[in-house]
Amino acid sequence: MQRKICDNKCKGMGIRWNLFAFLALFVAFILAVVWIFQVLLLGKFYENSKMKELKLTASVIESNVEKNNLEHTAYTLSGDYTICIILYEIEDGRAREIISCDASSGCMIHHMSPRSFSQLYNETIANGGEFTKTYSFDAFITKGEIKGESLNTVYTKSFKDSDGKLYALFLDSELAPVSAIVRTYSVQFQWIAMILIIGALILSLFMSRVISTPIIKLNKSVKKLAAGDYDEVFDGKGYREIKELSDALNFASSELSKNDNLQKELIANISHDLRTPLTMIRGYSEMMRDIPGENTPENAQIVIEETTRLSELVGDMLDLSKIKAGTRKPDMEIFNMTETIRATMLRYEKLTEKDGYHISFESDSEGYIFADRTMMLQVVYNLINNAINYSGDSKEVNVKLQKIGDNLRFSVSDSGDGIAPEELPFIWDRYYKVDKIHKRATVGTGLGLSIVKSILEAHKAVYGVESTVGVGSTFWFELPMAENQD
Ligand code: ADP
Repeated sequence: MQRKICDNKCKGMGIRWNLFAFLALFVAFILAVVWIFQVLLLGKFYENSKMKELKLTASVIESNVEKNNLEHTAYTLSGDYTICIILYEIEDGRAREIISCDASSGCMIHHMSPRSFSQLYNETIANGGEFTKTYSFDAFITKGEIKGESLNTVYTKSFKDSDGKLYALFLDSELAPVSAIVRTYSVQFQWIAMILIIGALILSLFMSRVISTPIIKLNKSVKKLAAGDYDEVFDGKGYREIKELSDALNFASSELSKNDNLQKELIANISHDLRTPLTMIRGYSEMMRDIPGENTPENAQIVIEETTRLSELVGDMLDLSKIKAGTRKPDMEIFNMTETIRATMLRYEKLTEKDGYHISFESDSEGYIFADRTMMLQVVYNLINNAINYSGDSKEVNVKLQKIGDNLRFSVSDSGDGIAPEELPFIWDRYYKVDKIHKRATVGTGLGLSIVKSILEAHKAVYGVESTVGVGSTFWFELPMAENQD
């Protein structure tokens, strides 16, 4: 089924807009995260960190309450964290101030009335010895000199030292007005959002240009290739993947072009091979019908020979396509290969007598293999026929069976013209001819080695050819030897 190639009309977003959409989404995500942390949760984060500082200060003072350097420690902590500290010792219901550090002018505990203090202390006791509350500064103000919208977090704690003396600790940390910071951030945020969106747009345009331009170029070239223009060269400049892709496409294009040529050659060769015997059959039949005295047994023999050749050719084509398609599977059995070859050699004796060929056979022992006997014979026939065909004037062919390790090696050598090294890899292809002028082989059909290759590969055999121009060729294959079951 042929697929339609869309020619600039395919539906869906192009790479440029896709990239922009993704970047815009990413920017929106970043903005959302920044907004949540910088605007929504700023107050909470700030309060939490202040609370941590208060609790840390309280625990340090509690653990140092009996030490001499308590006052120094308290002042250091007060200065470091800007926390106001008042520590009372409670004795017989009376409070005696031990430490008082005033870290900021907005400190609430230093402006509270004794009543408010005792209220706060009572709430601390009621709360289990620890109490925290965030107050607006105005709530406790007694001396009206301090104004502002600030909030204060007051943390109180009552504890005893090792002698059982009771203490009340009051800590106060001024919370800077977060709402003003949030308002500033909100304005800033709008600017950041605008800058980021413009940045994303520019970046996506730039990136899409860098990424998509080579892809768009490759896309155009691929469309030309799909339309059958194998001369198109893919020159992928830019990033590594594009270079790799264009290399792969160049390779695919050259392979496609080779295949295309091979296909054309194949069709030309098949039609040539089919037409030649058909023309002969037709010519001779017409001659025998129309010309008196031409209806001779010799002419009839030519018609029969051409018909045989035609059916051989069609048979070979069918064999090859069946093996390649996997419909003809090897029918495996253990058999005596030496014996089979020996029997086959008898058939070549006639040829030897008639045409002066000298075909020898050597075998060092009886070798059994596990294979399809008919297929193996087809391989052997094809290789011997080729050796005879291409043995040249010497007419010398040598067939050998040898044990090599656990394998049985079959080889056919001829002392013909040999094959040039650059042609060797291609002789196994269908209809490949070293001699480009497509002449009819005396015995072969042009499919022989291709059938040999398919059969040997179906048997997972090792095979090959050694050839020297002017000296001759040796075609061979090896299969593992099997145990004699007889
Ligand atoms: P063909 O019918 O042409 O022999 P094959 O597939 O059997 O077809 O062989 C393919 C090609 O390989 C032949 O055309 C020939 O050029 C080359 N070839 C095969 N066997 C030999 C050989 N023994 N000596 C030289 N060339 C050979």
